[in-house]
Amino acid sequence: MAKNSAPAHLSLCSEQPLAVNLINTRTNFRGNVIDQLSDIRSTQMWLEAAGTQLGRADCVWGVDARRLLLLRNTRHAIAHLADVYTAGTAATEETVHCLGYLNQQRTPARFHLAAGKITVSANSSLFESFRQAVIDSAAVALSAPPRLGLRRCANTECLHYFVPYVERRLWCTDACGNRVRVARHWPVRHAQPRRTRAT
Ligand SMILES: [Zn+2]
Repeated sequence: MAKNSAPAHLSLCSEQPLAVNLINTRTNFRGNVIDQLSDIRSTQMWLEAAGTQLGRADCVWGVDARRLLLLRNTRHAIAHLADVYTAGTAATEETVHCLGYLNQQRTPARFHLAAGKITVSANSSLFESFRQAVIDSAAVALSAPPRLGLRRCANTECLHYFVPYVERRLWCTDACGNRVRVARHWPVRHAQPRRTRAT
């Protein structure tokens, strides 16, 4: 593994929507941005981790250049909307472009019964089914009640988003919140003179 590579499972969280897991594939790892969709090989690794950790049986497709591009374009569009949504900034031409892209790419999912099991998919291709599930989950996350809507992690160094489920939640993970608390207290603790034991 390269010196600054983050583990493939670094940002995967089964409690979070697929769209959140996809946009969290960009991670600030010790000051370097690690992109888990940087190339076909790393994307395949991320996908395999997603299949295992998220319990997604539809993550068995192979990544090729076309699929990588589609996945990256989907991530770009959702990440842009997440940024506008959470920062409350004004929409730009890029926002209109991203909305148009997702609307154009979105195929409504249908309920199916296959071998006695209920499945929901928008496409017979496993890859497209997965991508549609990502886009659908972005639609749900962006239309949730504001108090429980998509948030950006309160750690300003962190690039990740999350759906809070609990209103007071501020951090993408407990570990991320702990890093901020430690960073806050470190200079204070070390600025204080050492106490000598009372005799
Ligand atoms: Zn975070």
